[in-house]
Amino acid sequence: MLPPGRTIGIVGGGQLGRMSAIAAARLGYRAHILTEEAHGPAAQVSAGVTVGGYDDPEALRAFAAAVDVITFEFENVSAEGLDLLAGLRPVHPSPQILGISQDRLAEKTFLNAHGAATAPWAEVSDDASLDAAIARIGLPAILKTTRLGYDGRGQARVATRAEAVAAFARLEPKPLVLEGTVDFACEISVVVARGADGQMTSFDPVENQHAHGILDLTFAPARIPEETADRATALGRQVAEALGLVGLLAVEMFVDRDGSLRVNEIAPRPHNSGHWTIEACPVSQFEMHIRAVAGLPLPPAARHSDAVMKNLIGPDDVALWPEILATPGLIPHHYGKAEARPGRKMGHVTRLFPRGSLPGPFGIAAALGRLAPVEGCDLPDERP
Ligand code: ATP
Ligand code: MG
Repeated sequence: MLPPGRTIGIVGGGQLGRMSAIAAARLGYRAHILTEEAHGPAAQVSAGVTVGGYDDPEALRAFAAAVDVITFEFENVSAEGLDLLAGLRPVHPSPQILGISQDRLAEKTFLNAHGAATAPWAEVSDDASLDAAIARIGLPAILKTTRLGYDGRGQARVATRAEAVAAFARLEPKPLVLEGTVDFACEISVVVARGADGQMTSFDPVENQHAHGILDLTFAPARIPEETADRATALGRQVAEALGLVGLLAVEMFVDRDGSLRVNEIAPRPHNSGHWTIEACPVSQFEMHIRAVAGLPLPPAARHSDAVMKNLIGPDDVALWPEILATPGLIPHHYGKAEARPGRKMGHVTRLFPRGSLPGPFGIAAALGRLAPVEGCDLPDERP
């Protein structure tokens, strides 16, 4: 158990690091951030910062020397960088887990090998493998980079062979993966924490709606049958166990129209779809993350309220900030980013509802004011 007063190193300087650092501070820890951006969202609220590249050995060494234990809010550190860190300090989650989650091919291979279904997929590294993949997966499909994708960047929906060829030429780095388009009823995610002793706890499955490839809304709990939610929880825990996780893991899933589940991707860190836990749970995903990394007990990931989380993306949403602050019931989070570029996550708002009374789409839209149109999850029966 890491005593209060010690320093938790967080690799990455964005909003996930910011909210993790705030949670760490409440538990008496100092957060120290490795970031390329001296005054970014995480650095603004942390006790210490090392400014440098994530693959710069000198920066990695200086960062490790300043901290007692290392974790991540950003996964794309090179294998060499991870090995360097792991040789100097305890690193949770392990470099092996980051290696799997960084690479869609390794990730899907791991998931399938451990009994988790995914969308049908095939590796694409040249013209011949592209044709073979199309023949096997069919079209329309989604061509994705295997590394460095986020918020829907690094992927293209392709309906014809010509579109696939054009996307193959454009998307970098290669190899790519061709994924069958899943005609899902809805998307959900499960956030699991696991300690070094193997103890696990998981937040209730939540439902995620995307707009333009970026998470827009999260509904907690997911508006799915209880039996589906139980299977999702079991699947999330199964993946965390198979990975030997120490830390936090988000498992994104598609719910097929028949209720079956496929894992879309995993992220061994706090996740945008877990932001609602800050207000709706006694222990948030960020505190759970810090607890797991610091070797503290993991209390049940209980939920005392239902919630809707709405992301604030780019200049248009940020322009609503004064109105958000003036709307009763909206709990505002601003990430302190200086510049509101289109597509950039600038903050989020959470709206709580008494447990068991998450309203339908109209009620949620009314509660969010000008913030969003809200659609329903398209599953048979089980509408609230
Ligand atoms: P993020 O960082 O937001 O998780 P990402 O760039 O890593 O995104 P994915 O999670 O692979 O990308 O895809 C983003 C979204 O695109 C998914 O949440 C889903 O809405 C849609 N999508 C991705 N793959 C498929 C698929 N095979 N079938 C249908 N929809 C898909
Ligand atoms: Mg995703």
